[in-house]
Amino acid sequence: MEKKTVVVALGGNAILQRGQKGTFEEQLKNVYHTAQQLAEMVLSGEWRIVITHGNGPQVGNILLQQDAAKGVVPPMPMDACGAQSQGLIGYMIQQSLKNILAERGRGDIPIATVVTQVLVDKDDPAFRSPTKPVGPFYSEEEAKRLRVEKGWHVVEDAGRGWRRVVPSPDPKAIVERDAIRILVENRAIVIASGGGGIPVIEEDGALKGVEAVIDKDLAGERLAEDVKADVFLILTDVDRVKLNYGKPDERPIERMTVEEAKRYMAEGHFAKGSMEPKVRAAVRFVEAGGERAVIASLDQARAALAGQAGTQVVA
Ligand code: ADP
Ligand code: MG
Repeated sequence: MEKKTVVVALGGNAILQRGQKGTFEEQLKNVYHTAQQLAEMVLSGEWRIVITHGNGPQVGNILLQQDAAKGVVPPMPMDACGAQSQGLIGYMIQQSLKNILAERGRGDIPIATVVTQVLVDKDDPAFRSPTKPVGPFYSEEEAKRLRVEKGWHVVEDAGRGWRRVVPSPDPKAIVERDAIRILVENRAIVIASGGGGIPVIEEDGALKGVEAVIDKDLAGERLAEDVKADVFLILTDVDRVKLNYGKPDERPIERMTVEEAKRYMAEGHFAKGSMEPKVRAAVRFVEAGGERAVIASLDQARAALAGQAGTQVVA
């Protein structure tokens, strides 16, 4: 039987759980647990998998380190910090999967992380109105100094202090798509576009990193199109997409068509920056010809892939 391809987008909870400190051991343990689910998909013999993941807390900590050590080590720009987080998370996934597959007699399956750049449009309207908070909290005085000195956009963040905000432009294309395709076609498990990819713009025909954050679900959707995935599986910390989320008349959605999804988006059922981009990505994938997209909780990954859990988005 011809294998199908699934792109699995791992949410923040696959790497770090709420309330944890973020030690390496904690993260590796979470990733190992996640990798067990991914390994089962591979071992079923039915699926070829490509993995993408979030990086919020990890890149956040790397940015904090830049700030704390700036007197000793030159701070790296955001794009370089994003690359570091892709390496860190890719390493944890590679090692976990390798160990689990080897234990099951399938240590032969190649596994690789691709440091991934994602092209964005330098005229994307997001560059004119940065919205995504990143890095440390500052006092008002320091934030305003950074605004002048570095030209950063800074905002007051929900009474917790001042923070830098960066643009969240729409992903246009995955720069390493051909390399990723070659690996996938040669039966490798690929980890790519971590944290939404490293945002780059094209200037005079050359790529250049920019200080921005791309939504990982929207970038994952581009990846899914590029590898011609049959299914795009978004794993997060809720079991299904809900209508009237958090209200007394909340209702889980088991299945929705693209038309229904668009109507619910327009009605404002999905929060910006969390569920809205997932539904938007699911709609894009199916509209581009994908068989189905699924939004589900991490612990129901396999049932969701089989169509028996989560929210299934279809044409
Ligand atoms: P991830 O790291 O998986 O991307 P996010 O926090 O970005 O996680 O998105 C998942 C969150 O989306 C859920 O924890 C939930 O609080 C929130 N959410 C917002 N609107 C909805 C909705 N309509 N249905 C379900 N969850 C929603
Ligand atoms: Mg998210």
